Formats: sequence, structure tokens, C-alpha cells
Amino acid sequence: MIKRNILLNPGPATTTDSVKMAQVVPDICPREQDFARLMKGLRRDLVRVVHGDERYTSVLFCGSGTINIDVCLNSLLPAGKQVLVADNGAYSSRAVEVCRAYGLPHIDLQLPIERPIDPRVVEAALQANPEVAVLYTTHHETGSGVLNPIRELGALAHRYGATFIVDTTSTYAMRPIDIVADNVDFLFASAQKGLQSMTGLSFIVGREDLIRASADYPMRSYYCNLFLQYDCFEKTGEMHFTPPVQTIYATLQALKEYWAEGEAAKWARHTRVFEALHAGLERLGFRNLIRREDQAGLVISVLYPDDPSWSFEAVHDGCYARGFTIYPGKVGSARTFRLCALGALDVPDIDAFFAALTEVLAENNIKVLYRD
Ligand SMILES: *Cc1c(COP(=O)(O)O)cnc(C)c1O
Repeated sequence: MIKRNILLNPGPATTTDSVKMAQVVPDICPREQDFARLMKGLRRDLVRVVHGDERYTSVLFCGSGTINIDVCLNSLLPAGKQVLVADNGAYSSRAVEVCRAYGLPHIDLQLPIERPIDPRVVEAALQANPEVAVLYTTHHETGSGVLNPIRELGALAHRYGATFIVDTTSTYAMRPIDIVADNVDFLFASAQKGLQSMTGLSFIVGREDLIRASADYPMRSYYCNLFLQYDCFEKTGEMHFTPPVQTIYATLQALKEYWAEGEAAKWARHTRVFEALHAGLERLGFRNLIRREDQAGLVISVLYPDDPSWSFEAVHDGCYARGFTIYPGKVGSARTFRLCALGALDVPDIDAFFAALTEVLAENNIKVLYRD
């Protein structure tokens, strides 16, 4: 028996015992053909999750989800061209930091963080900047909980001849994505979020022809180059360097469980959990920062109550001691914390969480009140 913790933070997520146990396997050198076969099936499955057709492939990297942001931006920009980042939150701002770190020509199109991106503003920027070759954004801004209209943004990118790259780290394998219908050229995620696997494996799903074309773009990184990693997989079936062996075993098990649960049923479960979180918060009198209709259905930014005895740290510690993890907010200067509907959870876990939270609030004499 492994102690079951309920993680309400935005990943890593709560996993099943079968995924945890899948890591306990006989030692193997990942250069063996047996291991290459496992990775081949894994790469195919990762494309299938987002309904990619034969034009799409996937490339694996050893690292947390941020490695994908780094790889896509440094690898997919032709010489003399620009990246346009439609930036309405912490994760798109991270992409801007990557552009700065590599000295990539870029435009940081800063948009209001409490709202979904307005495609008209992005279109105006595309019109005004013909050197833009890559439009980049985040599907679900995990910092706030806001969902962005990627299908519309992808259509715009293509109308202006740009490649569309989307960070889907906090929607992949949860909120259904159709990479073709959503007009996405590249998306990416990591194994410990929607797939409910372990940390250390990240992957990019994207257009194979565009990866091949990028062989001629400036090589700005050695370890984090998309074409090099792709080419190595194609030629040898292996990662260029050591893969996260145990996480790959866990992820194969997580994918088995994903297919067994099914895309629609899994999304329905996350939605149930999300609704249960909202219902419990409302019962206690908590308020949301983001309008309900703008939320992706996975992360809630909860406003701190105005009660002087409120202490996020005290509430966190009380919940943590009872097996529930809550998480600080990430929306500029707004005083918020986050509750997330990721992971192998269902409604009874959320009911148990609110029983614990109610105890912790009482213990700390906190009243959920707001000054208007
Ligand atoms: C979690 C997450 C990432 C990756 O963050 P890491 O700390 O590198 O795991 C990237 N983008 C989004 C939208 C995320 O939610």
C-alpha cells in the first residue's frame, strides 16, 4: 500500500498505484532493441491522443515541460524571421524569456491576463509584422485558469503564413484536442500532467515536414534541438542521449489506462472534479478571479478572503498534513491560490478535501468574507 495524496496543484498530478508500480522493472540498457520498440509505440500513441494523422510525429525529450518551450522556439525559427508571442499569462511570458535568452527576434504581445486572447488583436499584429514566421501561445494558462481560442488563432497564423506552436502542457490528455481541426502545427506536454504519469519525460507532437525543413534553420542549441532529436529517433529508434527509463515505463502504463478510460470519459471525470471544486468553494463563500465562462475547466484561481486571520501558509500546512496539497496563485499581483482538477481523482476525493479544508479554516479561526 502506497499512501494516496490528493494533489490539487497544477501537476505533477495524483497517479494510480499501477502507474507508480510500472516503474519497478528489471534493469535494462535503453540502447537495447526491446527498449527502442517501447519508445516507437509510445511516440505513435502520443500523436493518437490528439488525433494527429500521418503528417504528424512526436519527439521525446528528457526534462520537465519547460524544455519543450525551449526546444520549439530555438529550433523552429528560420533565420531573419520573428516570433510573435500572444502573451496573456505566466507560461507565455516564459516563452518570451526563452526568446530573450536565445536572442531570438520576437514580439511580446502582452494581453490582459484575466481574459482569453482576442484574435483580432493578434491579427492586427500579424498584419503589421510580415517578418513573423511563428505564432506562439498557451492553450490553457495554468497560472490563471484561462482558456485561449487556439482554433481561431491557428487559422490566423496559417492565413499569414506562420507556423502555429501551442503550449498544451495543462490540457493534453484532459481537455480533448484535435491537432488537425485546431489548426496546430506543434503542441507539447509532459508526462506528469494530463497523462497522470511521472516527472522527467516531455514530448512535442508536430508536423514532420516542418521538422525536416528546420534542419536548415540556425542551430541555436545542441542538447535542445528538435531536428537532431527527431533525426536520431528516425535513424536509430533511440533518444540522442539517455532517456528517463523508469518514467517511460510509467507512461506506457498511464497510456494504457488513458485508452481504457477513454477521451470523453476522462474529460467528463475532470469536469466532475472541477464542478465539485467550484461547488465546495461556493458553499464556503470563496470567490473566483476569472469569469467562469473563460476558464478551461481545470484550474480555479481563488481570491484570498479579506479576513485578517487568513493565511495561505496556515491553510496549506493544515491541508498538507491531512494529505491534500493546494497551491499558490500566479496572476500578477492578485492575491489568489489555486485548486486544480488534474490527476487520478474523482468527486469523493474533493468531498474529502472540503471536509479537511472546513476543519483547517475553523482551527485557524478564518472566516471566508470579502469587503466589497
Ligand atoms: C506545467 C506547465 C509547463 C511546464 O512547467 P515545468 O515546471 O517545466 O514542468 C509549461 N506550460 C504550462 C502551460 C504548464 O502548465
